[in-house]
Amino acid sequence: MTTPRITIVGAGLGGSLLGIYLARRGWTVQLFELRGDLRREPAEAGRSIKLTLAERGLTALAELGLDEHVKKHICVPLRGRAIHSRTGTVTYQPYGKNDDEVIHSFSRNDLNGYLLDVAEAEPTLRLHFGQRCVGLDKQTATATFQDVRTGAEARVEADVLIGSDGAFSTVRRMMLVRERIDYHQEFLPWGYKEVTIEATAEGLPQMDRHALHVWPCGDHMLFALPNIDGSLCGVCTLPFEGPHSFESLESAGDVETMFRTHFPDVLPFMPNAVEEFQSRPISEFVTVRTSRWHHQGKILLIGDAAHSVVPFYGQGMNAAFEDCTVLNRLIDRRGTGDWKSLFAEFEALRKPNTDVLAELSVENFHELCDTVRRPIVTARKRTSIFLNKLFRQHSVPLYTMISHTTMPYAEAVERHRRQERIARWLGLDLAVWLVSLNVRLRTALARRRTARLASAAAAEGRRETVVQTVAVPLRSAPEERETLRSEEPVEL
Ligand SMILES: Cc1cc2nc3c(=O)[nH]c(=O)nc-3n(C[C@H](O)[C@H](O)[C@H](O)COP(=O)(O)OP(=O)(O)OC[C@H]3O[C@@H](n4cnc5c(N)ncnc54)[C@H](O)[C@@H]3O)c2cc1C
Repeated sequence: MTTPRITIVGAGLGGSLLGIYLARRGWTVQLFELRGDLRREPAEAGRSIKLTLAERGLTALAELGLDEHVKKHICVPLRGRAIHSRTGTVTYQPYGKNDDEVIHSFSRNDLNGYLLDVAEAEPTLRLHFGQRCVGLDKQTATATFQDVRTGAEARVEADVLIGSDGAFSTVRRMMLVRERIDYHQEFLPWGYKEVTIEATAEGLPQMDRHALHVWPCGDHMLFALPNIDGSLCGVCTLPFEGPHSFESLESAGDVETMFRTHFPDVLPFMPNAVEEFQSRPISEFVTVRTSRWHHQGKILLIGDAAHSVVPFYGQGMNAAFEDCTVLNRLIDRRGTGDWKSLFAEFEALRKPNTDVLAELSVENFHELCDTVRRPIVTARKRTSIFLNKLFRQHSVPLYTMISHTTMPYAEAVERHRRQERIARWLGLDLAVWLVSLNVRLRTALARRRTARLASAAAAEGRRETVVQTVAVPLRSAPEERETLRSEEPVEL
């Protein structure tokens, strides 16, 4: 039997990983990427460079023996969220019941570059950079690529073509032509720009580097993920239009006022924030749904090309990696005699789950933006972690199932709803309410304490010292993290 010839369009995170999986079967794989080789060219400034890797992504890497290298050399572990208030106080929400339940922050280019290195070392895989897919013969899986520098075009034949060319996939667009396929794309009315939270002159982080930092402000938000060099990459999220929006921030003064008003504790660590904000493009958040992911056993979509989700559950790439695991296992089980039904089964396994993920991701955006500051949300999280400690397998928080397991997304949500119903029958809503009341009281006390400190400092002319006293302490050592964890929970 001859080995299949595979064309993969898009050598981003999903395409590179799938290329490695298929090449390790000894198949002939050609991986075409529109951009230049990111390992040799400067990164595109100002676009989604920091991501998080969770259990699903790690499992996909582990099946290829790549996880340990990635964790050790590319990632920073995150143990929870640090929620910053306007007064500079910080609430910490752990991601799990212990320090093993972490997610990993990394730079897109570092991971993509590493996957390209591994892919390049596969003897049956060839990488082609600067090649834009511009044409597709759906019946024969023959694609046309245009060299972005010379404009020269070349046709490439294959047995199967896989479109992993991202949310605005060309392969998907061409596959949909004259087919009875529903396609839906939905943008959030918010966009984002990236800003840098600098490390100290000694290269030390200015805030806890093992947390995802969030500054929620209702209709806008800043969140930040740590870089390996001690700096953090901030993502400033605002509505496109309206009173507090990209549109309304016309001058450098407007931008500075916005940062000063809403994110005062972090502004001292962002000396270039205004310039970065003004010079960088606004990026958008899009959800994409396509009712069919494959065509006649010849074309298959994976990753964002099939199911782009907004990034607020940190799962888009994890789901793209899980696509690779699921497809690989299906090939093991079914062989390649009938690509058409294999692709149909792949879609049936994945689509209900990625549809659920799309909804969860939008819901989590609203939670991060606003409700995360409400005591009831913290109370719910605490109660679910507490119940998980008590009943382990029987009461698992939704976040844990999504981020720390490989349970299908739809099953996780179903189980979560069941747990919630049982909790309601047992009257646990009352317990949640009591915990939230407790958080409210402690918040009020902490506010009074902050106000007292501020007025005392103002009287002594020490305003700056007070802001730093109540801001998140500069921590990185484990024993210090404990201090943060046991700190008074403070919510606005
Ligand atoms: C701000 C932000 C934060 C995110 N954070 C997280 C996170 O924390 N965790 C997480 O799991 N996910 C996160 N995501 C989602 C994640 O980035 C995507 O889900 C993931 O990159 C999808 O991988 P992919 O390979 O399908 O697509 P991509 O990584 O987008 O790769 C597509 C590739 O195809 C290439 N291409 C496009 N068109 C063509 C063409 N015509 N011809 C040839 N090549 C082409 C592109 O150049 C690109 O290299 C985030 C996304 C954003 C925007």
